[in-house]
Amino acid sequence: AGGGEVILRTENLGKRFGGFTALKGVSAEFRAGALTAIIGPNGAGKSTYFNILSGAFPPSEGRVLFEGRDITGLPQHRFAHMGIAKSFQITNVFPELSALENVRIALQARVSRYDIWRPRARMTGLVEQAGEILATVGLWARRDRAASALAHGEQRALEIGMALAAQPRLLLLDEPTAGMSPEETRAMMELILRLARERTVILVEHKMKLVMGISDRVLVLHHGELLAEGTPDEIRRDETVRRVYLGQ
Ligand code: ADP
Ligand code: MG
Repeated sequence: AGGGEVILRTENLGKRFGGFTALKGVSAEFRAGALTAIIGPNGAGKSTYFNILSGAFPPSEGRVLFEGRDITGLPQHRFAHMGIAKSFQITNVFPELSALENVRIALQARVSRYDIWRPRARMTGLVEQAGEILATVGLWARRDRAASALAHGEQRALEIGMALAAQPRLLLLDEPTAGMSPEETRAMMELILRLARERTVILVEHKMKLVMGISDRVLVLHHGELLAEGTPDEIRRDETVRRVYLGQ
């Protein structure tokens, strides 16, 4: 993976919150089929960058181009329609409903948006599709369990399953292993690696070690700026990066 065309590009991206500059002059390219990790210490601007890439809020300056089209500042649902998905936050999960029901509802939301005139035709097979997605994220055995009764790691996997319901070409994940046990973390990294075989993935991760073994490319943010970019080996050897991470 990693040798595809540029699917996503940011040009001189900046974000200010009041007088504070959280992101500044970030120009980067993401290649189709690649797993790109965005790393950096706490407060580096990773989530700010992530939120702009996923359409949660617009940048203060600069542009975002997806498949060559300028999507800067478009509303979030347009990002989703174009094939960009981010892992749902747990607030989007219905806690009393089963894992299968949650994915089915996520699928249904997509169907009704895309094919409003033929809802019944498109509804058939949703349960099967939901089952396939649950198998992909490793939750098939848990399909009938209420979302609220799933372990923390399983809930995060369910959120990813719900994001997959939109059949995204680009999947964005912000610290998917936050709060996970080592065992859950291992399972999540394996899942991400599997997902990255079939689509473009951008993974924001605070813990540098986690992403080095699985990423094609690594971007390092520091104080809101792009500090370094390269293969995991190049990043590992980068003196500036080592210095930034020394205190970690
Ligand atoms: P990271 O995800 O790398 O830890 P963030 O992108 O969340 O970093 O934050 C970068 C900086 O911007 C931090 O100093 C943070 O306090 C600040 N920041 C983020 N969001 C806001 C906001 N909505 N309002 C004000 N400051 C913010
Ligand atoms: Mg963050």
